[in-house]
Amino acid sequence: MLYYSTNHNSPDIDFREAAIRGQAPDKGLYFPKEIPAIDPALIRDIESTADADIAFRVIRPFAGDTIPDEILYNITKASIDFPIPLLSLGEGYHSLELFHGPTLAFKDVGARFMSRCLGYFLQGNKKKVTVLVATSGDTGGAVASGFHNVEGVDVVILYPSGKVSPVQEKQLTTPGGNIRALEVEGSFDDCQAMVKQAFTDGQLNGDLFLTSANSINIARWLPQQFYYLLAYKQWADKSRAPVISVPSGNFGNICAGMMAHAGGLPVARFIAACNENDVVTRYLDTEKYEPRKAIPTLSNAMDVGEPSNFVRILEIFGHRFGDLSAVLSSSRVSDAQTLDTIREVKQRFGYTADPHGAVAFRALQEFRENTDMPGIFLETAHPVKFPDAIEAALGTGVELPEAVRSIMAMEKKSTRIKATFSELKNFLLS
Ligand SMILES: *Cc1c(COP(=O)(O)O)cnc(C)c1O
Repeated sequence: MLYYSTNHNSPDIDFREAAIRGQAPDKGLYFPKEIPAIDPALIRDIESTADADIAFRVIRPFAGDTIPDEILYNITKASIDFPIPLLSLGEGYHSLELFHGPTLAFKDVGARFMSRCLGYFLQGNKKKVTVLVATSGDTGGAVASGFHNVEGVDVVILYPSGKVSPVQEKQLTTPGGNIRALEVEGSFDDCQAMVKQAFTDGQLNGDLFLTSANSINIARWLPQQFYYLLAYKQWADKSRAPVISVPSGNFGNICAGMMAHAGGLPVARFIAACNENDVVTRYLDTEKYEPRKAIPTLSNAMDVGEPSNFVRILEIFGHRFGDLSAVLSSSRVSDAQTLDTIREVKQRFGYTADPHGAVAFRALQEFRENTDMPGIFLETAHPVKFPDAIEAALGTGVELPEAVRSIMAMEKKSTRIKATFSELKNFLLS
């Protein structure tokens, strides 16, 4: 299997090289030259197939011959070794809970898969790889946990001081070892700009082998297909494929679901659930793609003004708007509606949704106003990661799960820097 750059100005490369590089040299994203078909027998027998076997059979063609089967199987199994339950709430609503991983966010699966792949690829490499990543919250924790103690890899995480939740901060500042956290006196946009500049700095890239760990990287993006296969495994009425609503920011998650669908997974329709950052909602309404500066909202992991993975969605459909809009709908949900929805879901179903899951529920609800099709919304984070929103909506807090209680007692280790590239560069070279 080879991957091309969506900018068509870089050589085609295999899974190994694309996973090490992250982004293509021409600044495009890597995309597989063909979308492999999922074995119809796997879809037919999915209920009696073990989770790890399902995931392995889906990811294997993407990895090609870059990882031996046995090793790829173990990597895959380890990346989903926690429950991914589909809960029926009633009235045709189902929650796919993706927050049972070590950092309570769905990004754990991709981060665990990618870190293990890199660990395998870099065995025996003399030069260490430095994973450099800016986080607005969830990515940092998932990357820290996924890459902790992976040989041959150093991780540097930039986060905006005072702008991530206490749980998120502890998750990325407590692992230590090969994980270093930089507390930046600035905004998330500052962190992102510093990281971007680092990737283009000649001196840094001469001294270090820098790569990124966001969903641009195929090894983080592609394993997200597992959620959709595992949801279908648990979907009771196989005669009616589900509508799936995905809270979307950088559009990596939903795009992975659409890849699985293009490979043959039964899904009736995808809904891109957006907050006020609605560039894709507007695109589907007007056929015009107009990125904007990100607006801060309650569902902050979706505060993205220019979603990186949207170009991959266009690739799946050969840039044909009609084909895309036959499969994808989108809704915009305001912060006020998000809080209302957290309350409504609690009252109607006794279920506590986090702000991201609430946006997805609301978008699904809007879609279902004109149809009785049953649907799934993705619960991408545990509500405890967003205590202020839950408190504002329900008037009560959320009980801390055990995994969080122990991390809250640990000591934060971070290095404070100003929001300038030169401070980042000095840190990386020292
Ligand atoms: C990252 C994240 C999202 C957005 O996922 P994308 O793949 O960037 O669209 C949604 N919810 C939560 C909780 C997240 O951490």
